[in-house]
Amino acid sequence: MLKIENLHVKLEEEDKVILKGVDLTVEAGKVHAIMGPNGSGKSTLSYVLAGRDGYEVTEGSAQLDGVELLDMDPEERAAAGLFLAFQYPVEIPGVGNMTFLRTAVNAQRKARGEEEMSAGEFLKVIREKAKALKIDADMMKRPVNVGFSGGEKKRNEILQMAMLEPRMCILDETDSGLDVDAMKLVSEGVNALRDAGRAFLVITHYQRLLDHIKPDVVHIMADGRIVKTGGPELALEVERNGYAGILSEVA
Ligand code: ADP
Ligand code: MG
Ligand code: MG
Repeated sequence: MLKIENLHVKLEEEDKVILKGVDLTVEAGKVHAIMGPNGSGKSTLSYVLAGRDGYEVTEGSAQLDGVELLDMDPEERAAAGLFLAFQYPVEIPGVGNMTFLRTAVNAQRKARGEEEMSAGEFLKVIREKAKALKIDADMMKRPVNVGFSGGEKKRNEILQMAMLEPRMCILDETDSGLDVDAMKLVSEGVNALRDAGRAFLVITHYQRLLDHIKPDVVHIMADGRIVKTGGPELALEVERNGYAGILSEVA
């Protein structure tokens, strides 16, 4: 589903190279985890896939179902089925959460040539999904993420994901800032979306999220590359020996 080959990325403004040849293939129906020390380029990879400004791809490709993502605008990538849950969710003052979601869902439907969701249907679906994530009516009325706690923001990202039903879901450190209960809620939200036609790239610094969202494949990223790939046991090895152990072994 997602095929990244030899991806090299530098900052647009400075001569700083961040990704130094990332190779990664994620198959439909699978959950791949990327772990790695702080500063290894995990968020940069997710931003570049989603199409954030400020980065220059100097080499390589990233395809979604055989179509080059890197040639598309961010909204085209979203319409193609890509979704990124941010490590630091953005606050949007003045835009109600409910309005934002309805606009996003309908924009995506339009881009795909589908009919808009009726107001009634939208309300029914969103109430059900918000309830599962313990997002109350008040949070739905407030401006997007404004004044939300860290955990509320992360749950709101998962609500967006559940409403947009993307096929390729990227979660960037969704566990950071979550207490155990919130992590369970978020994980249940993600697990409910697991499906043979959907794939996940779960970026996390810590193993504990992977107790709840069981990955099929685990990759270790360091200094802008995937340096090791294995099964779920690789995450446990990180937990036991830290990144230093694995990195010295790879070196
Ligand atoms: P991770 O998510 O693995 O912690 P990041 O992708 O956030 O890593 O960052 C990788 C490296 O690139 C870090 O050294 C970070 O400081 C640097 N970096 C990323 N974005 C920028 C930016 N916009 N300006 C300056 N440095 C950046
Ligand atoms: Mg980081
Ligand atoms: Mg990061």
